[in-house]
Amino acid sequence: MNILVINAGSSSLKYQLLDPDSGKLLAKGLCERIGIDGKFTYKPQIEGKNALNAVDVAMPTHSEAIQAVLNALVDKDNGVIASMEEIDAVGHRVVHGGESFASSVLLTDDVMKAIEQCNPLAPLHNPANLIGINACTAVLGSKTPQVAVFDTAFHQTMPPVAYTYAIPYEYYENDKIRRYGFHGTSHRFVSQRAAAMLGKPIEELKIITCHLGNGSSIAAVKNGKCVDTTMGLTPLAGLPMGTRAGDMDAGVMEFLMNKYGWDMKEMMNVLNKKSGVLGISGVSSDFRDLDAADEQGNVRAKLAKDVFCYDVKKYIGAYAAAMGGVDAIVFTAGVGENGPALRIAMTDGLEYMGVTHLNEQANAVRGQEIDVSGEGSRVRVLVIPTNEELMIAMDTAEIVKGL
Ligand code: AMP
Repeated sequence: MNILVINAGSSSLKYQLLDPDSGKLLAKGLCERIGIDGKFTYKPQIEGKNALNAVDVAMPTHSEAIQAVLNALVDKDNGVIASMEEIDAVGHRVVHGGESFASSVLLTDDVMKAIEQCNPLAPLHNPANLIGINACTAVLGSKTPQVAVFDTAFHQTMPPVAYTYAIPYEYYENDKIRRYGFHGTSHRFVSQRAAAMLGKPIEELKIITCHLGNGSSIAAVKNGKCVDTTMGLTPLAGLPMGTRAGDMDAGVMEFLMNKYGWDMKEMMNVLNKKSGVLGISGVSSDFRDLDAADEQGNVRAKLAKDVFCYDVKKYIGAYAAAMGGVDAIVFTAGVGENGPALRIAMTDGLEYMGVTHLNEQANAVRGQEIDVSGEGSRVRVLVIPTNEELMIAMDTAEIVKGL
């Protein structure tokens, strides 16, 4: 079975063609600058096939972008499938499913309307996701089934005590203002992999999943269900991130807006684009740059990493409390998978809850699922590369097989 996975943004579109049963990736790539000057990248994963790197392709709309993807996939020299009929279904990443979607769903006209109703909750992302879906329908026709996989869906099992904000309740009732959480596809994927690694049913495990990348969030997964997560109504909440502030006293906004005469747009730009580890360090949002600056003695780069690690550790403690214990802590995404020193810092001092100093040899290994727990650790510490596209393809296949 071949599933085309699409992640559409307002002027970009990432794609992968993969077989969810074997996990084999056939091709992947990126359409950028859609509606501007159209750059197209295609990376076939089959020996002997040639890649295309940011070549100029006219892409006035997402429909031409999808057409370019299909042309590349079926190209007689460098394609990976013989015809479009070999694409069994399309799986779309959709950012916000609000309270309407607690799992992945086959796309129908009614579902499209329900996603549209979530647009106010993610005004930058959901409309772009819908454009990507419509573009696929326009190019592939309606007989190729399409599935929506939501970033928020996995977190819909959170109880009211975890998702309710302490503001007047009418804003929840009238406007659906509450914690939703994001990165759900990744948290679900790595929690399932963690259970497989531990050889236990997920229904018997308490897992804390730390998705630490440019955007970062942590989830508490009890018996296979998310019971709490750090991101909120929007992805601005929780941990400090590459450029996002994370949790902060809302009074800071009033102070800064008054002092500098900013409007809300300027304030949000600071909180989303200029804060996080970039804001603290003044160096970079990228942890590799922070490591390099730290090695040169840059005190603020070290402080940025320390604040980040401290907050991760704080949430690990909080979620162990929320679940009444923890069996495994999982690290994933760019920083979680590639930052051995950060993983040591983030778990240092957790002996009281059964986490011993990590096994330095295992902790140095990269690019594979590995148990990095130290000797005598009651809590397993796991590094698991995330694969959101595979999870989207697996969901899509499951729904399509049931049709
Ligand atoms: P992601 O958003 O998951 O792609 O993660 C991106 C972040 O991962 C980058 O900003 C880097 O800070 C971090 N990262 C990627 N590779 C490494 C590495 N080898 N060592 C440390 N951090 C890394």
